Amino acid sequence: MSAPERHVVIVPCSGIGKTYGTVSREAAYEVTEDLRPGSTRLVALSLLVLGDDEARAAVATNPTVTIDGCKLGCAEKMVRESGGGVSRNFAVLDVYRRHRDLKPDGIAELNEGGLQLAHALADEVAAAVDDLAAGFEAVHHA
Ligand code: SF4
Repeated sequence: MSAPERHVVIVPCSGIGKTYGTVSREAAYEVTEDLRPGSTRLVALSLLVLGDDEARAAVATNPTVTIDGCKLGCAEKMVRESGGGVSRNFAVLDVYRRHRDLKPDGIAELNEGGLQLAHALADEVAAAVDDLAAGFEAVHHA
């Protein structure tokens, strides 16, 4: 019997109407659609808020990376409240501190700085995904 397929679950905060929330979602899409589509899956925060069984099971049984727009940490809190563990948490603000030249602006559409900041954040998240996915291999070959 083969082991069930595991993914690293990515949960961005829902910061609708906030630039940092938009950066968070943009980075999450980039990781799950472009950078690591095979080893990740996106779970929308709104599904966890609604108590969706499948979304709750996904965060409870897979390593989860949260991406929060600000210090309120909505994604991290909601994953924990849904019975999941948070393997890594990223905050857009922390990444911005490391890339002061990339000032994000815009909500529906990010400016160039915002897009590049999302890009830098996505690279950091992808590296964390690789670390976590390496754990799958180790278990698999144990
Ligand atoms: S973490 Fe901050 S930006 Fe994201 S949804 Fe919560 S309050 Fe909004």
